[in-house]
Amino acid sequence: MDLTGKTAIVTGGSRGIGRAICLELARLGANIVFSYAGNAAAAEETAKLVEQTGVAARAIQGDVTSADAAKELVEAARELGGVDILVNNAGITRDKLAARMSEDDFDAVIATNLKGAFLMTKAVLRPMMRAKSGAIVNMASVVGIMGNAGQANYAASKAGLIGMTKSIAREVASIGIRVNAVAPGYIETDMTAAMPEAAQQAMCSAIPAARPGKPEDVAHAVAFLVSDEAAYITGQVIAVDGGMAM
Ligand code: NAP
Repeated sequence: MDLTGKTAIVTGGSRGIGRAICLELARLGANIVFSYAGNAAAAEETAKLVEQTGVAARAIQGDVTSADAAKELVEAARELGGVDILVNNAGITRDKLAARMSEDDFDAVIATNLKGAFLMTKAVLRPMMRAKSGAIVNMASVVGIMGNAGQANYAASKAGLIGMTKSIAREVASIGIRVNAVAPGYIETDMTAAMPEAAQQAMCSAIPAARPGKPEDVAHAVAFLVSDEAAYITGQVIAVDGGMAM
């Protein structure tokens, strides 16, 4: 796979899965523009690691729930050469059983995980339509397929992303733009480290591959989906979960 000369936008690239995606796409030759919410030190580290691969990196602090922040990322990608790839990776959890979940917890997760991906997609579609090419990957989750007690908001956001992936894929397939989703299972990042120990153990015991995933496992699937090798693949959801959701 070769992404030389392409530019990729990755939301939430400062840590975890997003950082691994930035590094993998950079290793394959793409310039990287990524966003982060507030962790400047982690963002600086990602940018440094990306630049060490020999491509350009731009780290932009910005909330994915803002349409203006989306435009800023697109502008930065244009300055680096174009808007070829978008990975909607930024996401948050606010776990609670539904009976105890506040409206704020529900709204915040939907706004970041689902509406954020919509705003970012909307911002890249025009330049991608003009170029008659582009590849978008949305970061869903096995939880969006299977559901998970305590994650009604998160599961709804990820199931919504899957529906949005397929809808937009149908809208733009004939003009050379592909939209796919990746559905990770249990991946070792800050997000899963914050889960209660019992929940971590329950999820890990449901993995047929008998090991948690690594951010790089997800990054490899994303790299394939945005590459020319996946030119005839659109509207799909690829689970990267050690067999959890089969
Ligand atoms: P993480 O370690 O918590 O990192 C989250 C990233 O998103 C950080 O870069 C963070 O920036 C950024 N972010 C959060 N809210 C944002 C906002 N409003 N605007 C812009 N950036 C924002 O998460 P992760 O585990 O790598 O997860 C990445 C994606 O994979 C998420 O969509 C998650 O739902 C999905 N996923 C993860 C797992 C898993 O097991 N880890 C499984 C399935 C799906 P800061 O560093 O500045 O805070």
